[in-house]
Amino acid sequence: MGSKLADDSPDYIIMEHHDMPYEELASDFQIFTDPDLMLNMENIETSNIDLSDIVHQAGYPQSPGSETMDIASASIVEFPFSPQGRPPHFPFAGNLNFTLEVNSKDVHKKTFLYSHRLNRIYVDRKCNFSIQFNWDYIIAPQMFVRATVVFSDETQAEKRVERCVQHYHESSTAGMQAEIAKNVLHSSREIGTQGVYYCGNVDMADSWYSVLVQFDRTGPEPCTHAYQFSCKNSCTTGINRRAIAIIFTLEDKTGKVYGRQKVGARVCACPRRDMVKDETAEGVYKTGKKRIPSNQIDPPKTKKIKVENNLMEFDDKVYKLPPLEIVGSRAALCGLKTMLEMMELAVECRKKNEPDVTAQYAQRIVNLKNAIQKIENLKTPPPPPLSQ
Ligand SMILES: [Zn+2]
Repeated sequence: MGSKLADDSPDYIIMEHHDMPYEELASDFQIFTDPDLMLNMENIETSNIDLSDIVHQAGYPQSPGSETMDIASASIVEFPFSPQGRPPHFPFAGNLNFTLEVNSKDVHKKTFLYSHRLNRIYVDRKCNFSIQFNWDYIIAPQMFVRATVVFSDETQAEKRVERCVQHYHESSTAGMQAEIAKNVLHSSREIGTQGVYYCGNVDMADSWYSVLVQFDRTGPEPCTHAYQFSCKNSCTTGINRRAIAIIFTLEDKTGKVYGRQKVGARVCACPRRDMVKDETAEGVYKTGKKRIPSNQIDPPKTKKIKVENNLMEFDDKVYKLPPLEIVGSRAALCGLKTMLEMMELAVECRKKNEPDVTAQYAQRIVNLKNAIQKIENLKTPPPPPLSQ
């Protein structure tokens, strides 16, 4: 067994062993000196193992001269494997070079967006979004990709992500199996589709819910799978406004992990509005210093998806809207509130460095709030509660 970092030992395969006691690996961890890395890796059991070890452990013969991993066809006791305990978040490509890309072809501006800057998907509930996976298919033609939704904040990471009571109940009474009905992430394929498995045990609190998809590759084209969320971030009793991410792991049939990647996610009714809000709040203005040109911040790794760099730009021109006729208080309020929200955000972002510029917002924000209040007052009052 090697004890070097993967970069130093290209002939080894990075793997995680579910059955390997931590003590055996403890010495390997002492080679890390970066405290951040140590923090991220504290829950990861990573080891470098010769490919022939895997084959021997799996209990079937290795065909001489063959470089193809035939792990997926090994006989195993449990399939699909359901991992227990908090899933590690630390991404690594591994020796099979596992990578993913949010599929640009399916980006739909109204229901599905992807922020390169924040590595986060913005998507509405029940809307498909597809992810493209790639790895060294010549060595490993048949592999599985597991998608597990986790809470991204460290304080919440120990908690299993579950659907809210209402949405779970809807699916459950419609006859959906419990481990599917509880999972906030579903495959876009019909339940029961060959090669798509739902994992997780409802009765075991440390059994995380995941979607496992089998891929059989014959060529270099990356493979794609579409998913959808079955709950929103705002579902109380469920995700309840906590930040979430999807962990994708490349696995063999026995559940051994060869690579891991992570994508943040926000499931909401207005993906564009929320992406603008998050990019503004988290992207450029995170440090509270003067605005950095957008081309200097985390350049996108791929150029396939057009990210609107002007989302961060604030101009000072004042626009006078013509008298408009809007049908429905909801539509009118939604429009005005979005404008109010964006102006308040601009003040929040600029007040520290540009106090003179932000002063011009004050009266206009008051006027907008008054206009919103007027419409609120005009709304049809709800019917009085029924008397007993
Ligand atoms: Zn829900």
